[in-house]
Amino acid sequence: MEHKDCIFCKIINGELPSAKVFEDEHVYAFLDISQVTKGHTLVIPKTHTKNIYETPEDVAKELFAKVPLIANAIKKTYQPLGMNLVNNNEPIADQTVFHLHLHLIPRYGDEDGFK
Ligand code: 5GP
Ligand code: ZN
Repeated sequence: MEHKDCIFCKIINGELPSAKVFEDEHVYAFLDISQVTKGHTLVIPKTHTKNIYETPEDVAKELFAKVPLIANAIKKTYQPLGMNLVNNNEPIADQTVFHLHLHLIPRYGDEDGFK
């Protein structure tokens, strides 16, 4: 269900542009507008859910089921040495967009700028 005024819901429905990495019935993945490292990608459920606390099991299953596929696509394209998966929940933990999202952050070595 789309959530009014949610920028990620607007990205899913095409109201806002994005650089799509992957899409299926349940999941959308796109490049983060602020690339922490090259290929930094956000993976989101098409069902609006605020964060991990409010995410039903079926939505979590559909989201995480596609992460290996998306991670391997990024690995193939950008050839990082490794990758961090990050999920921020609530403002104190740096959540700024309140539609559940997983950061896939490719790592290239100490100089890639991600700590
Ligand atoms: P958070 O801090 O909530 O974990 O991450 C939100 C992320 O969404 C940030 O890394 C930010 O750069 C990204 N972001 C915010 N607005 C947009 C947008 O309009 N398009 C894209 N592609 N990323 C966005
Ligand atoms: Zn949303």
